[in-house]
Amino acid sequence: MAQKRRPRTTLVHGGTRRSGYGEVSEAIFLTQGFVYPDAEAAERRFIEAGPDEFIYARYGNPTVRMFEERIALLEEAEDGFATASGMAAVNAALFCQLKAGDHVVSARALFGSCLYIVETLLPRFGVEVTFVDGTDLGQWAGAVRPDTKLVFLESISNPTLEVIDIAGVAEIAHAAGAQVIVDNVFATPVFQRSLALGADVVIYSATKHIDGQGRCLGGVVLGTRDFVRKTLEPYLKHTGAAMSPFTAWVLLKGLETLDLRCRAQAAAAAGIAEALRDHPAVARMIYPGLPDHPQHALAGRQMETGGTMLAFDVAGGKEAAFRFLNALEIVLISNNLGDARSIVTHPATTTHQRLAPEQRAALGIGEGLVRLSVGLEDPRDLVEDLSQALDAARRT
Ligand SMILES: *Cc1c(COP(=O)(O)O)cnc(C)c1O
Repeated sequence: MAQKRRPRTTLVHGGTRRSGYGEVSEAIFLTQGFVYPDAEAAERRFIEAGPDEFIYARYGNPTVRMFEERIALLEEAEDGFATASGMAAVNAALFCQLKAGDHVVSARALFGSCLYIVETLLPRFGVEVTFVDGTDLGQWAGAVRPDTKLVFLESISNPTLEVIDIAGVAEIAHAAGAQVIVDNVFATPVFQRSLALGADVVIYSATKHIDGQGRCLGGVVLGTRDFVRKTLEPYLKHTGAAMSPFTAWVLLKGLETLDLRCRAQAAAAAGIAEALRDHPAVARMIYPGLPDHPQHALAGRQMETGGTMLAFDVAGGKEAAFRFLNALEIVLISNNLGDARSIVTHPATTTHQRLAPEQRAALGIGEGLVRLSVGLEDPRDLVEDLSQALDAARRT
């Protein structure tokens, strides 16, 4: 890999591989296989493929490799493996290294499908899981055991935007001999370097900020070369959740503008949080960049900004929240995030509908809670749209 550059330069140039044509923009190598000059070359490549040698697109592809190298350079990870979706990345990072009898400690506040894997699938294969309140280091310390293989968390968490002390959790986990896996989607690779904070493995759903324009599903797992090549790659290349070369190309284009987009979206999010926190229809504004956020100081140390996501309780429960959603004219009702379009979600009736009301309450997901992913529209238009919709929420 090339010498170290600043993040914005890396996002434009990192990992680029040019063919003999010297194309400016990355080529899409839309091929599933690769031809060998002779039988001896094929034999050699199956023993050990060189850095520019590929065998089959389920194992690797030049366009996919460019994406993996660019995001790995940004994260200062030794290596990475791209996947067909964020969930394929989560699944692979866990299943590639766990076996029956292992113990896992996980934060309770997880993205719905991550919770399904950790709570339902892992125990089915004999892995014992202990859940903790991720913001309480004492609970992590009390939960790890000599047989704890890994700990899993998301920070910032979905949808209530809790911030977990990654360095603190890493210290506890490493003392017990456990690996730390962080799903870094909400914080974004621009604002939070989980590997530098002590995580061993970082996962992204590239579907979110990395694409950032609502086009493709994708994911990536980043870690040491040893982990990626010896533990993760065998699992992924034989189970088949490979990223398509076309997706990798779209995501390379996404990475070029990732830093600019995330910074604009975070600045807008901070402005919106400030502008709407005192609106009479907002019972509680949750934004890690606001001083009254419970982990505000930690967010300031661990992340560069408060991030691109907000959550707030609309006073008046589900009916009022629905009046708010239905009155929005610019902000879209959907469940993606990190998009150029601002998107609002009502977790209790959509992403977290599956949970029992007590489970939702334990996670702080009330009937009035809405999650807002702030996009790239003019922030003044967003404040106006959100304010008029909050006004409408109060009219019964
Ligand atoms: C979206 C998301 C995922 C899953 O990613 P997909 O690309 O939808 O499979 C995992 N974790 C978090 C925190 C997410 O937001």
